[in-house]
Amino acid sequence: MQTLLLSASDPAAPALAAELIRRGELVAIPTETVYGLGADGLNEAAVAKIFQAKGRPQDNPLILHIWDARQLELFCHHIPESAYALASAFWPGPLTMVLPARDIVPRTTTAGLSTVAIRCPDSAVTREIIRLSGVPIAAPSANISGKPSTTTAQHVLHDHDGKIAAIVDGGPCRVGVESTIVDLTEDRPRLLRPGGIGPEQLISVLGDLVVDKAVTAQLGNDDIVKAPGMKYRHYAPQEPVVIVSGSREAAASYIRKHFIPGDRVLCFEEELPLYEGCSPLAYGKEADVTTLSAGLFAALRELDDPAIHQVYARCPVGGGVAYAVQNRLRKAAAFHIIDAEEET
Ligand code: AMP
Ligand code: MG
Repeated sequence: MQTLLLSASDPAAPALAAELIRRGELVAIPTETVYGLGADGLNEAAVAKIFQAKGRPQDNPLILHIWDARQLELFCHHIPESAYALASAFWPGPLTMVLPARDIVPRTTTAGLSTVAIRCPDSAVTREIIRLSGVPIAAPSANISGKPSTTTAQHVLHDHDGKIAAIVDGGPCRVGVESTIVDLTEDRPRLLRPGGIGPEQLISVLGDLVVDKAVTAQLGNDDIVKAPGMKYRHYAPQEPVVIVSGSREAAASYIRKHFIPGDRVLCFEEELPLYEGCSPLAYGKEADVTTLSAGLFAALRELDDPAIHQVYARCPVGGGVAYAVQNRLRKAAAFHIIDAEEET
């Protein structure tokens, strides 16, 4: 199949993409978080194609994307007041809510769960595609399963050229990490995945938040999880990644001492001079954490190279979107963290 590359600024793109979705084809869509691999979320055969194209495990559910918050009631029931409060505070935006699913949502989309993850993305072209298609669009990140997510149309083309009907190119994603996921089906709201909306922002609306174990620790296959996708190896380049924490100086001294040819250093722009001769790659500025979230996956994809032996990574501290960057890097590193302050 020839993969059509459509520009988000082409006035004909939304109608064309919507027509392909209606026909049950796969279309990669831009959002503010990452590029999604979209299909008609109510069509089981179309949704099955997503799992096949990504090589995604069958028990890893998808997010249903809607174009307007008012669509929430079409696909969910028993919606608590907190969901409306979050929608009015953060939609359209990088927040996904888990709510009880109506029967109209096929179990292929929810991976057999009775709940559905739902989001209204902050991309005008993607909301227009959803509106014109007349169906909610189910979409996970558009990367091959396990690999770093796709934050440009070129990343999607690299992973799926010839396998999907179209890619809508909306330029690089602004946030760069996947949406925050909050589960509203229990007594207390539960953070299943950090993202563009920080925990503090959620608490300011909800007044309460439990952080799921999947966010902070490596889960095994036997763990019973609330966020099924979170137990799989994620976001990782093929070689091992190790996070080196501590001050700039302590980390640089540790890394320079252990660095061998074939290793790479993933660091902040401000740190580049400290790693001369150590093949450093900067993913953004420590002083501006949104550049780190926006640059993280492109850097991890660049480092996904069989010639690389090991990656030493520097990770931001703090809340907001830095909390999401920490989470993705820790998962990419399989929670392998060295404290340079203790080692030197
Ligand atoms: P992706 O956008 O590729 O990160 O995939 C969507 C993620 O949303 C999955 O990995 C799941 O962890 C999460 N998710 C989707 N639906 C549900 C649900 N009903 N309950 C809990 N987590 C969900
Ligand atoms: Mg994903």
